[in-house]
Amino acid sequence: KDPRPAVPGTRDPRPAAPGTAAPAVRAGRLVRRFGDRTVLKEIDLALGAGEFTALLGRSGSGKSTLLRAVAGLDHDVEGSGELLVPERVSLSFQDSRLLPWLRVLDNVTLGLRGPGARDRGLTALAEVGLAGRERSWPHELSGGEQQRAALARALVRDPELLLADEPFGALDALTRIKMHDLLRELYERHRPAVLLVTHDVDEAVELADRVLVLDEGAISVDLAIDLPTPRDRRDPRFQEHRDALLAALG
Ligand code: ADP
Ligand code: MG
Repeated sequence: KDPRPAVPGTRDPRPAAPGTAAPAVRAGRLVRRFGDRTVLKEIDLALGAGEFTALLGRSGSGKSTLLRAVAGLDHDVEGSGELLVPERVSLSFQDSRLLPWLRVLDNVTLGLRGPGARDRGLTALAEVGLAGRERSWPHELSGGEQQRAALARALVRDPELLLADEPFGALDALTRIKMHDLLRELYERHRPAVLLVTHDVDEAVELADRVLVLDEGAISVDLAIDLPTPRDRRDPRFQEHRDALLAALG
């Protein structure tokens, strides 16, 4: 085993041992303090390659802080353990963060190189149901369509890890359900590891195969959701999982 410590915020250069199912993310003893408040208390996080994990927690429990730490966006997080994060990481947020001065296709392909970029962008747009909208401006899209474009932008990079912070939080209920179906379908086709931050228990149980609960700066629950997809909210096992998680959330 390579003794070099991984530095938070850097990509771990060590290749996975052949034949082992490499984890997508391994973060050891993450600590984040804001003043005298400790929001993350020595969190150990391991996400398997291709695993869909939801991170639940009450508002203010530190979900976004943990996601930002894993994404390498937080330079003040401390980690006394290792930090292993894959090279290709895509991020998505509640606000789609499309650049308003770029057309939809240019948003999706921003930073991509090579002659195939445009075609890859068009393919990704078609996959999220936005075929024909490549020349639209972001403000011409509905909120749901903007999130679709953000998903296309995330996927066109062929991520090994998708980090999503309440991506559907601003959508109406019906649009949100459609986006759930779309995200799960895209996940099953592309199989990135996913870490989906949400405060919505139903969303977590509907989409993820594993649900973590963040409480008081620690992971208090690590629950496997072993149900076939698409999931039926009326299935008694769905309700058992939901009730267990609601109880854990207090
Ligand atoms: P969540 O995403 O679960 O709602 P956050 O990770 O955004 O929670 O925040 C966790 C806690 O850390 C909150 O109490 C919040 O006020 C605090 N916090 C987050 N970012 C900062 C910051 N930049 N400065 C000070 N406190 C912060
Ligand atoms: Mg948050």
